[in-house]
Amino acid sequence: MRDFAYARPTRPLEAVELVARDTDASFMAGGTDLLNLMKDGAENHGLVVDISRLPLADVEVTGGRLRIGSMARMADVALHPVVRKSVPVLSQALLAGASPQIRNMATIGGNLLQRTRCWYFRGADFACNKREPGTGCAALEGRNRWHAILGGGDHCIAVHPSDLAVALRALDATVHTLGPDGARVISMADFHREPGDTPHVENALRHGELITAVEVALPAAGTRQRYLKVRDRASFEFAVVSVAAVVHMNGRRVDSARLAFGGIATRPWRSAELEAELRNGPLTQDTIARCGELLVRDARPRQDNEFKVELVQRALQDVLGRFSGGSR
Ligand code: SF4
Repeated sequence: MRDFAYARPTRPLEAVELVARDTDASFMAGGTDLLNLMKDGAENHGLVVDISRLPLADVEVTGGRLRIGSMARMADVALHPVVRKSVPVLSQALLAGASPQIRNMATIGGNLLQRTRCWYFRGADFACNKREPGTGCAALEGRNRWHAILGGGDHCIAVHPSDLAVALRALDATVHTLGPDGARVISMADFHREPGDTPHVENALRHGELITAVEVALPAAGTRQRYLKVRDRASFEFAVVSVAAVVHMNGRRVDSARLAFGGIATRPWRSAELEAELRNGPLTQDTIARCGELLVRDARPRQDNEFKVELVQRALQDVLGRFSGGSR
């Protein structure tokens, strides 16, 4: 690993200024992903700015909105009483992610920025447009069981690995930042990017821009919520497919439905068509089956991951089927 300088500022603006003026600098929060990336050679930085001590770890409710500081630890947010009671899909997604040890260190902001688990990205000997733009993509003809069936292309098919991001996408969260040009708010829909022909650009942040918080509107009482993660082993593994559902029902009819999917796409995935199909109708097995078909209509599976096309439909069926049966 390359030598690097280290700084630990105490104020957010100080951290922003340190990174903004050095193109070779990176923020580090819990360090659970960045240090591995640096050891693997997938990232190299001359300056690491440790932001873990910044006063950005509060979790608070104001005016029906939940605001979670970016330095809050995954474990603390998952077990927060308001999160467990009012936003269980968020708590479930956090507890499904990583191991207890990592959840005690990793932060909310860092989790949103964790990088893909594509093994070619993390192995410096392979062609990878995300690690080195223009070199190619070893996954296209290589081992791609874990890769995307939606949102990819000819330059990159890596899946975004965050469970938290999938739940936040279903909740229509906003990401709050502080950068060299001041503060701004980015919707989760605009935060993560599809690779296009620039797979190394993964999100809407500018260099030196720091995530300060995420916010969600608390769902109305009675809203059904669930995060289902299908993975190869229950102890500690990334999603093969996942579903985050936030659905409000009036009897057996759906008032509103927000569904996001992980493990199948290059970013946390939503389908406006699927949600429109559900809205204002009864939640029947036929409706659920049509939704599954809409979800995968444009899927482009590769040689090792065609099974995801059926698996994600079955996961959706499981989640919505329980709602139609009246259990929460
Ligand atoms: Fe790199 Fe993306 Fe291809 Fe993986 S899928 S090798 S991250 S370009």
